[in-house]
Amino acid sequence: MIISGKELSTRLKQQMREQVAGFPAEFGRVPHLVVILVGENPASVSYVTGKAKASEAVGIRNTTIRKPESISEEELLSLIRELNADDGVDGILVQLPLPKHISEDKVIATIAKEKDVDGFHPLNVAALWQKQPCTVACTPKGIIRMLKEAGVQIAGKRAVVVGRSNIVGLPVSKLLLDENATVTIAHSRTADLASVTRSAEILVVAIGRPRFITADMVSEGAVVIDVGVNRDPETGKLCGDVDFQAIEPKASVITPVPGGVGPMTICCLMENTIQCFLDRMER
Ligand code: NDP
Repeated sequence: MIISGKELSTRLKQQMREQVAGFPAEFGRVPHLVVILVGENPASVSYVTGKAKASEAVGIRNTTIRKPESISEEELLSLIRELNADDGVDGILVQLPLPKHISEDKVIATIAKEKDVDGFHPLNVAALWQKQPCTVACTPKGIIRMLKEAGVQIAGKRAVVVGRSNIVGLPVSKLLLDENATVTIAHSRTADLASVTRSAEILVVAIGRPRFITADMVSEGAVVIDVGVNRDPETGKLCGDVDFQAIEPKASVITPVPGGVGPMTICCLMENTIQCFLDRMER
């Protein structure tokens, strides 16, 4: 079974559209997401465009602020502070990566926790690890949603997450743990990675290496979630971290790249924006 993140996200966005359509009557306006793009990195430009399109599809107001690569850290931080103070803004997202002269940590920590739609703020991360209400990072949230929609039982399963980044590997491991999976986190220093990945009933791969996970590294019947977004070095086409062609016949459930985790990430960004809006309206 191939889980289409594209189809699922289209369905979820339609439901959100209906929800958002009722907001002007109830709250006087729709949620407002501000996305800040620094520089012209083509991947970032395309992500920001995707976020604007999804906002439009859901009926969320989207403002994209473009700043030159030369913007100073202080200028960017003061823009964020202005948006924090703006009552008409519900969500703030600074597209990463940022130029080297700007500290991503400082930028993330400057965004008000209540407007942190990416769920990267240290207070949101701390709340996730303490099982407190919080905004959960979009990619991990989308992965759990996909597993549930596909009817995968997570509780009691052996889950292996390859990758331990702050934005994917660590939070998805915590969410799997919260769903009562038995979780192993593997990384670049893991010894005999293939035997670890073969032990997985649910395998989540987020490493950023084209088709790194080969068929011999996956057990028959495993559920395989491919987070990677890479360019195939030969064809230049998008591909995942998993060798989809070889693994698809073996896996019970698998996600494609493109059209898998990516669209669900954007979908969860829309959900987070609506949640931040509703939390602010209720306060
Ligand atoms: P990072 O580069 O931050 O982290 C990569 C992780 O993979 C690290 O923990 C690293 O280990 C581990 N790793 C690297 N090489 C190996 C290896 N040979 N064996 C085992 N582990 C390895 O990446 P991200 O988490 O930010 O992203 C991962 C991928 O997911 C990328 O392709 C990215 O584009 C994609 N992505 C997709 C999203 C989507 O919406 N579809 C959203 C976010 C990311 P160590 O810690 O030891 O260095």
